[in-house]
Amino acid sequence: MFGGPALRCLKRLAVCAAIAGVLAAWQAAHWAGWWQAVRVTGDSMAPRLPGEHYAATCTDCGLELRCGIEHLPADRQLVCGNCGSAANPVSGEPIRGGQAVWIDRSLAARQPGRWDLVALAAPGDPQRLEVKRVVGLPGEAIEIRAGDLRVNGRPARKSLEQFQELAIQVHDDRCRPATAGLPPRWSAANAGTGWETAPGGYQFRPAASQVGTGRSPGALTGRRSIINVSGTTAGASPEHWVWLQYRHWPGMAAAFPPRRRTDETQIVDHYPYNQALTRSPLHPVTDLQLRLNVRTAGTGQLALRFQTASGTHEARWAPRRRSAELWRDGLLLRSAPVRVDHVRRSVPVEFTVWDHQAALRIAGQTVLWHMVEPDSEPKALETISAQASSPSGDPISGIQIGVTGPMAVQLDSLIILRDIFYLHPDGSGRPWPAAGSIQLPPDHYLLLGDNVPLSRDSRHWPSPAVHRKSLVGKVWHK
Ligand SMILES: [Zn+2]
Repeated sequence: MFGGPALRCLKRLAVCAAIAGVLAAWQAAHWAGWWQAVRVTGDSMAPRLPGEHYAATCTDCGLELRCGIEHLPADRQLVCGNCGSAANPVSGEPIRGGQAVWIDRSLAARQPGRWDLVALAAPGDPQRLEVKRVVGLPGEAIEIRAGDLRVNGRPARKSLEQFQELAIQVHDDRCRPATAGLPPRWSAANAGTGWETAPGGYQFRPAASQVGTGRSPGALTGRRSIINVSGTTAGASPEHWVWLQYRHWPGMAAAFPPRRRTDETQIVDHYPYNQALTRSPLHPVTDLQLRLNVRTAGTGQLALRFQTASGTHEARWAPRRRSAELWRDGLLLRSAPVRVDHVRRSVPVEFTVWDHQAALRIAGQTVLWHMVEPDSEPKALETISAQASSPSGDPISGIQIGVTGPMAVQLDSLIILRDIFYLHPDGSGRPWPAAGSIQLPPDHYLLLGDNVPLSRDSRHWPSPAVHRKSLVGKVWHK
């Protein structure tokens, strides 16, 4: 009865009806006010969601700089957090209207998860909307210790994607200062060992003595790590590592203790967005990510290493053998095969140590991931003044890239990120609350801003716990 053309016609009608239904649903959502487009105005979620701000381009390295309107230096010059250049005038008027975001006001969006962004009626001013990030869920006990968020007495662990969402950029090697005579940010630990600066990156050429030793230099030999920071003479051992190391500059105007632009320092919880905000002390941040593009030819191993106050974490991999290892403090934690062929082609590599876990990603695949059991008590917080210099000459940042074996290596686009570092509401690194934790009743959330030193949030409100009814919806941004 419904054969041939009649059936095709019915099918087309059904498709049209389905499309109309989707449009109608979208319209209904729009009319019901489920989705609301707003712009961020304040600084509490910067730099991810900047409010009204000034912009400039670094005259030395070319990086785009931003500064919240509340913290513009009196001379209207921005200091580049990347290269430390201080002669970067802001031009004209501030950029009115900050980051555009969407608020999903549907009922489901009022049950957010940890690290979700939410809009809420501002405590004390219900007519005003605020954007914050959910860090504590109903029924949980929340505290801040040594920069970390702790949930029910244990560190809260972000996924790699969540780390990326909250991370602050520390250094971008693609933007190199034009000023002549500045020391390089990445350089060979020992001159003449094979590492050289190249256009847009770095290259390693093995010494002649390392080639053709017949020692199968690509093998992952031994179960003990040889911590060899400064490198030794070529060909001394199958695990002779040659290191390229990063040196961090303060990248701030009113640094403490006062420093020159190129004085080496630790990586700290600095926010270049808050230019004129004076803070002291700053806190070393040991949760880091190094990302770069890697191209290799030949047989050998590469290593990415973070040597910080929280230990020495190292990811090693042998591109030709397609095997990878994670090490901590000289002990092998985990090994795994690398399933992607990445010899003689450039692949993105990421090594991340964060929230008591470490991960290696090659070409977008998580090759290794390991959870490090935390100490029962977090270590006492060190401040920058305690470790402002390195008597041994080793890099204070502790970030290094090593190579062993007769392997040629090309690196480019090296970028370093740091994790968010939570603070006491007075801006210090003291625990919050001073003792115990914030116990969240049913249907209540704990909300913090990403711009930790500036944000007014659960740490400051008369009641830290925010009831579900005060949440307007989840916030999305591009
Ligand atoms: Zn710069």
